[in-house]
Amino acid sequence: MNIIIFGPPGAGKGTQSDFIVKKYKLIKLSTGDLLREEINKKSPLGIKITSIVNSGSLVSDDIINSLIETIISNKNYKNKIIFDGYPRNLSQAETLNKLLLKHDQKINIVIRLKVSLDVIKKRIIGRVVCSKCGNIYNIFFKPPKENTICCKKEFLKKRDDDNIDVTIKRFETYEKSTEPVLDFYKKMNLIKDINGETNIEAIYSKITDYLSVLEAWLYIITPYNYAFKTYTQ
Ligand SMILES: [Zn+2]
Repeated sequence: MNIIIFGPPGAGKGTQSDFIVKKYKLIKLSTGDLLREEINKKSPLGIKITSIVNSGSLVSDDIINSLIETIISNKNYKNKIIFDGYPRNLSQAETLNKLLLKHDQKINIVIRLKVSLDVIKKRIIGRVVCSKCGNIYNIFFKPPKENTICCKKEFLKKRDDDNIDVTIKRFETYEKSTEPVLDFYKKMNLIKDINGETNIEAIYSKITDYLSVLEAWLYIITPYNYAFKTYTQ
């Protein structure tokens, strides 16, 4: 199965997709990772990307799409991809569909983690780190235990990079840019909404409910793919 996971920054998308990758033996495709890999490889494309990034410009859709195709066309990853942070706009979503079709695949499910700006703000504002042991807490959702020996109030510090204005801006950008993409997948009946305001375990359990049903269904309609997958791993 091929999955897309959506969620605003701070929704816990990365954590959840890591769990999914492990349980369903998928590979995570994030455009950030793809770009970094290419840069590190110092391939001709990687060198081109380095100069684009250094000049402060955005890497074009063409470059991103060609990197995506190298993964989609790889037989080892067929029907085993989770897309994280991609597609970001409608044009990328349309290209992704074409690329998948070309390589005899499609998106099987789109998971949307729904978290309100209010909760994301609290996750950021409430985040404190114990300056003695490095434990991370949240004064709203996960305060340190009372009568703790180490993580006393006077040791808890806010992190400098937790900037609320940046958070709001990122949230708004996410909402605005993903709206047409989500409409696109809504028309294809692929979206499953998950309440992302509960805890990590509850969210993960909801996701696996959907994925396990999907996997069972895919096994019924394409048993060969799945038998093959099982015996070659
Ligand atoms: Zn501590």
